[in-house]
Amino acid sequence: MASYEDLEAKVINTGICTVCGACILACPTSHVKFIEGKPTRSKRAMDCVGCSTCYEACYMLRHDLIRNIEGNILGWGKKDSVGIYKRIVVARTREQDIKKACQDGGIVTALLIYALGKSIIDGALAVGSDSWMPVASIAKTRDDVILAAGTKYGVVPVLKELRSAVIDHGLSKICVVGSPCHIQSVRYLKHKGLPLASSVKLTVSLFCRENYDYQCMMEKANEKGLNVDQIDKLNVAEEFSVYAGGKRLSFPITEVKSCVPKHCLVCEDFAGELADVSIGSDGSPEGWSTVIIRTEEGEAVFSGLETEGLVETKVGGDLVYIKEIAQRKKEKGKQTKDIFKLKEGGLGGKEIAAKLGITEDRVSYRLEGL
Ligand SMILES: Cc1cc2nc3c(=O)[nH]c(=O)nc-3n(C[C@H](O)[C@H](O)[C@H](O)COP(=O)(O)OP(=O)(O)OC[C@H]3O[C@@H](n4cnc5c(N)ncnc54)[C@H](O)[C@@H]3O)c2cc1C
Ligand code: SF4
Ligand code: SF4
Ligand code: SF4
Repeated sequence: MASYEDLEAKVINTGICTVCGACILACPTSHVKFIEGKPTRSKRAMDCVGCSTCYEACYMLRHDLIRNIEGNILGWGKKDSVGIYKRIVVARTREQDIKKACQDGGIVTALLIYALGKSIIDGALAVGSDSWMPVASIAKTRDDVILAAGTKYGVVPVLKELRSAVIDHGLSKICVVGSPCHIQSVRYLKHKGLPLASSVKLTVSLFCRENYDYQCMMEKANEKGLNVDQIDKLNVAEEFSVYAGGKRLSFPITEVKSCVPKHCLVCEDFAGELADVSIGSDGSPEGWSTVIIRTEEGEAVFSGLETEGLVETKVGGDLVYIKEIAQRKKEKGKQTKDIFKLKEGGLGGKEIAAKLGITEDRVSYRLEGL
């Protein structure tokens, strides 16, 4: 039977762990904890009952199943680089308190508040912050949701909070907000039949090119003469931007390239292809969001927001652009996986470049990250 040691050897120590928190959630003895940025079993290994639940909970070991899960949820229709969807709209909230707190069009926050108000959900797993460090949180009220608005960069084991949401808070209709990798993980847990995952009724994914290590980001901001207390907002898209004191300072994306964790270098999902609704800023004007509605559940919530006039929508949005970003991410992720494989097989940069028909510079650029 596979053990925690196998999980450690195949996923955690190889750098492909996306820190989703599923193994922490699943361990029946609460023996796996989030320590120093990764899941870790405490040293008292004799308390571990060797049940292999943590290993079984890790979707990274069953990537072969993801396409099947997608087919079961979204059907087997034509799929493009942003996944299968019903419709894509550009939208922004009409509510001033959300506008003040949100990252882009405030659609994630507006959607959660609407779903709570209509009892479609009774709580959400979101991400708050401690001096910009992301912290997994449980939101049950409008105030909680607004408090968690805004993007925070850094790994955060969102799913570990599901146990507390169900057991301590008694929630049974939960929305998980997360990066595409975390949405894949929660879909996998539901597919596996993990009892706690049956309480997840809605999933909202953020678009994601890549994530950045929190400490590394803060060091970069410090190098620009800003300390954490001065920062009002961080954004990484075509550029790395820090908002402070009413000003926006933008730097080339290459300045934070070394902060990208390994698991992001090999990731191929930009648009949260398994979510009910996916939301990002790419493809929309500043202050608006691009919203990809994929399922009946997603449609029910988003069309409710539209019908009640809680959001403004407009047709359009640069679909070609977001499809290009998504396609590029797939190609980059595949190529980087190949590079890592060849490197692990003992090849040097020159040999890898020759084998893949790319330049040696491209090989080193692909591997640049933490
Ligand atoms: C690591 C990361 C990379 C991203 N990359 C892109 C990108 O390349 N292109 C793009 O268009 N958009 C990207 N986004 C999404 C974008 O930054 C906004 O979150 C999105 O546009 C939603 O905006 P909003 O105004 O609707 O969200 P808001 O209403 O402000 O709500 C944001 C929600 O996201 C949750 N959240 C914040 N940080 C995290 C986190 N680290 N993990 C999980 N949930 C979190 C909050 O709890 C909140 O519920 C990224 C987000 C993250 C976290
Ligand atoms: S008790 Fe089971 S789930 Fe927990 S660490 Fe040990 S093997 Fe993993
Ligand atoms: S379940 Fe998630 S947190 Fe645990 S090892 Fe796998 S990817 Fe990492
Ligand atoms: S790039 Fe992929 S692995 Fe990294 S945070 Fe985004 S979705 Fe997760």
